Amino acid sequence: MVSDKITRLPFEGNDVYMIDRNNIMIIYGDNPSTMIPELFEKGHILEYIGGDKDILIGIKPNLVVEKPSHLGATTDPRIVIAIIEYLKAYGYHNIIILESSWVGADTKKAYKVCGYEDIANKYDISLIDLKDDIYAGYGNNPTINICNKAMEVDFLINIPVLKAHCQTKLTCALKNLKGCVPDVEKRRFHTMGLHEPIAWLNKYLKSDLVIVDGIWGDLTFEEGGTPVFMNRIIMGRDPVLIDSYAARLIGYSKDDIRYICIAEEIGVGSTDLSRADIIELNHGEVGIDIGQRNAKLEYLSKYINAKDACSACYGSLIHALERIREKGFLDNIDKNVYIGQGYKGKDIEGIGIGSCTRGANIYLKGCPPSAKDIVDFLMKYNI
Ligand code: SF4
Repeated sequence: MVSDKITRLPFEGNDVYMIDRNNIMIIYGDNPSTMIPELFEKGHILEYIGGDKDILIGIKPNLVVEKPSHLGATTDPRIVIAIIEYLKAYGYHNIIILESSWVGADTKKAYKVCGYEDIANKYDISLIDLKDDIYAGYGNNPTINICNKAMEVDFLINIPVLKAHCQTKLTCALKNLKGCVPDVEKRRFHTMGLHEPIAWLNKYLKSDLVIVDGIWGDLTFEEGGTPVFMNRIIMGRDPVLIDSYAARLIGYSKDDIRYICIAEEIGVGSTDLSRADIIELNHGEVGIDIGQRNAKLEYLSKYINAKDACSACYGSLIHALERIREKGFLDNIDKNVYIGQGYKGKDIEGIGIGSCTRGANIYLKGCPPSAKDIVDFLMKYNI
């Protein structure tokens, strides 16, 4: 089992933190206008970007389809606004947003529906539809065709959404760059089985900064439809490390997702979470009831006894139950599963998830625990 070294700021006597390739920073909440500046300040992002205010900064959201972000598929435009406002306040003026929605979807329509047209107008930012761009091939065995504009960018900010995927299990930092290849190449990626080309794409097109939209993600599909409120933004520099961490958040191990392992093998980054510093800047709040938003969540929530649970904790448990359902073991759960601050200090007849439930017969510590830890725990003790 991976033991994440969770550190919460402020450290005693030291309330700043320099972002490093081995770090992952997390902030809980759903208000990017305060969360992004805090991440950037604590991570000393300006020092990392450097003093040249003329560099071309590219923002790559995930606008795979034309759906607003609360449906789980696309990057919350408030995150992009907060990034732009921060960078512009410090004089970085050469910023573009670039994307190519999936084959069959209209990027320009996605820009409009997802709120990016308004961003472009308000902040005088160009929206690049990479479906209109020309491209060139990089490397051989395999050669990867990548859109020119994406390769021109001096500093690429990759902003994926934390989502499960019906074929690759996870879609996050590494896979989000698939929106930087032409449609003909996207089709070819599928004929190549997705994993190899996704890893190699990241060898040639580098993410300088990854900011994961973990506010609303999706339980099962890249195109959304089963949104889960995970109430956090995650920042790091290594997309392989970020994806290894993200996999655990939705109930998988990095070994379940082949492109993560291939990316490590070819030198894109590291999967070694045991050497990573995982820094939480704050603590999640008791959240909204996410169990009633769609039929699947309602179904999974029947296994849960929640009382004042934080959204991050509840979201982890929902992802874990779905992974157990995928394995075919959900109906084997025969004990009550308790979660939430309402059980603090109480004796519980059943199984507890999260440190608040330490009064249960048996409980999983963590605050919040990852979905992967919950899967392993429930498979061991409750099934
Ligand atoms: S363990 Fe308790 S306080 Fe911690 S995230 Fe879960 S519900 Fe919240």
